[in-house]
Amino acid sequence: MASHSTTTSNSIKTSSLTQVDVELFAQWLQESDQTCMFTGAGMSTESGIPDFRSPGGYWSKNTPIDFNDYIQSEELRKVAWSRVFESSLNLGEAEPNKGHDIISVWFEMGLVQSVITQNIDNLHQKSGISPANVIELHGNGCHAKCLNCGHIYPFSELEPSYRETGTVPPCAQKRGQNICSGIIKTATISFGQPMPEDEMDSATRETSQCDLFVVLGSSLVVYPAASFPEMAKKRGAKLIILNREPTGLDGYADLVFNGEIGETLSRVNEAVKNRHQK
Ligand SMILES: [Zn+2]
Repeated sequence: MASHSTTTSNSIKTSSLTQVDVELFAQWLQESDQTCMFTGAGMSTESGIPDFRSPGGYWSKNTPIDFNDYIQSEELRKVAWSRVFESSLNLGEAEPNKGHDIISVWFEMGLVQSVITQNIDNLHQKSGISPANVIELHGNGCHAKCLNCGHIYPFSELEPSYRETGTVPPCAQKRGQNICSGIIKTATISFGQPMPEDEMDSATRETSQCDLFVVLGSSLVVYPAASFPEMAKKRGAKLIILNREPTGLDGYADLVFNGEIGETLSRVNEAVKNRHQK
């Protein structure tokens, strides 16, 4: 252990996944008291969900609608709903991949305590992790929410009125004597929309409590989300980064893997099982 107990200046970097590093990952997983997984777009590309921010990705074909514009413009709300109901990108149909499944198993084994995700695809929850343990920094794209009262609307509940009118009516929840009438929006965090306070608080708490912080499939360029690995490291946690491409924080990490998530976590999982059998 001591030989691998590294500082920023001599972090272990590997592009070929050596068995030594895989076993070290497994060892740290088992030795840590509190492990936090931080996942980004790369986590879900193996489920067929393209990276929204990549060149040619979703945002290059669908200009993002700023939060304030959404609030102010009925026309833009119609555009937004047409993207939900007419889009070929159906997040609700995507299935968790091998990487999600392994994290879910590690959760059950007590090797992982929390997941912070930049993804909006609901796949960690779908893989079996309780929604209470998944902190969604950018919200959830698989349902809608009233911006006033927070009531959750499944898309299926909103689709009939969209088909009829081309849009979605205001929130019809009763609040005492009144009807809420708040604007309903996909439960994602839009450009220009403040980061969700509760989720940011939870993510900060989990990050500062953990002793192992693992980044999976995030290029760590979007702030404030990317500040979490830095925070974990400053608080003394070990930092592992697994991403297809190098990230800006690789030099800061204790262990860096450039590779596929499903394949890498499968190898780490084998090492975990072998350690269990010893
Ligand atoms: Zn409402």
